[in-house]
Amino acid sequence: MKRLLSLNAALIMLALCGCGAAASENRLNTRFLYDTVIKLDIECDRKTLDEAFELCERYSKLFDRWDSKSDISKINASDGKIKVSSDTAKLIERSLYFSRMSDGAFDITLCPVIDLWDFEGTSLPDRNEIAEALKSVDYGGITVEGNTVSAKGKKLDVGGIAKGYIADRLKDFFYKKGVKKGIINLGGNVYSLGEEKAKIGIAKPFEPQTVMLSVEVSDMSVVTSGIYQRYFEKDGVIYHHIIDPKTGMSAQTDIQSATVIGKSSADCDALATVCVLYGRENAKALIDSLDGYQAIFILSDGSVDYTAGLYREENEFYFKR
Ligand code: AMP
Ligand code: MG
Repeated sequence: MKRLLSLNAALIMLALCGCGAAASENRLNTRFLYDTVIKLDIECDRKTLDEAFELCERYSKLFDRWDSKSDISKINASDGKIKVSSDTAKLIERSLYFSRMSDGAFDITLCPVIDLWDFEGTSLPDRNEIAEALKSVDYGGITVEGNTVSAKGKKLDVGGIAKGYIADRLKDFFYKKGVKKGIINLGGNVYSLGEEKAKIGIAKPFEPQTVMLSVEVSDMSVVTSGIYQRYFEKDGVIYHHIIDPKTGMSAQTDIQSATVIGKSSADCDALATVCVLYGRENAKALIDSLDGYQAIFILSDGSVDYTAGLYREENEFYFKR
């Protein structure tokens, strides 16, 4: 799914629920699906693992806007109402929820603007083209009724939430199969299964292989959005992949990475993107205002901030009781 699942691993596992020492061939399993490393380190049999990878592929195919057969491509090619899978309808509804919550900072209709940016290159899009593309950006132009989506004149990109949604579906699948322990990692979008505590590493911005911080969780998702995940630098300015719908430019933010922790991976995914767009002050206020979510921010000056439900011991974060 090319860019939908294309981000570098932002989170690196430190301890895998204590299953590291006796890791069997069945438990440790990594695949490269599209542009993303999918790592399922789960206590389960091979058949369950294979089914999980199939599920992963199925969802990726629904949401992949570079696959002409995907639901998202069908919506993007359509000029009227179109029937999609219930998963796609739910994903879009949840995206709209976060658009409303963030007053349009999170907007899946940004696709035409995103397409003007090439983060593998070093040149900026033409300002007039950005202005033109911005004319069609408006989440208010999407309606979802049951499994029917209408998005006339809109092009959707669900890269800010889809990995989280898929992680949630994988979690449901594993729990249904009776799995008690394991880590789902979709290119850094992590879900820690089961009651046992696991430490999830948070990468150092611009050095994604270096673990800078960690957070201890159980039965929870940990998702990081960062300006270092896809970017280029020009004349001392970093142009990154999280786009401000007001300007069509990379969000100006004092956050280098935002890690959101909570039960729903889709929500953590969307919220992490919103946090980067908001900047530290508003992001912290937003997450503190929500029940069941915490966040850790690595800021441009190298300092670290975090929300009220966490406490810090050196570079490790824990939930307050
Ligand atoms: P994430 O890594 O979850 O922060 O998502 C970043 C991806 O979301 C980008 O690569 C785009 O596909 C998409 N995106 C960029 N800006 C926005 C935005 N303002 N609202 C929603 N999605 C966005
Ligand atoms: Mg996101």
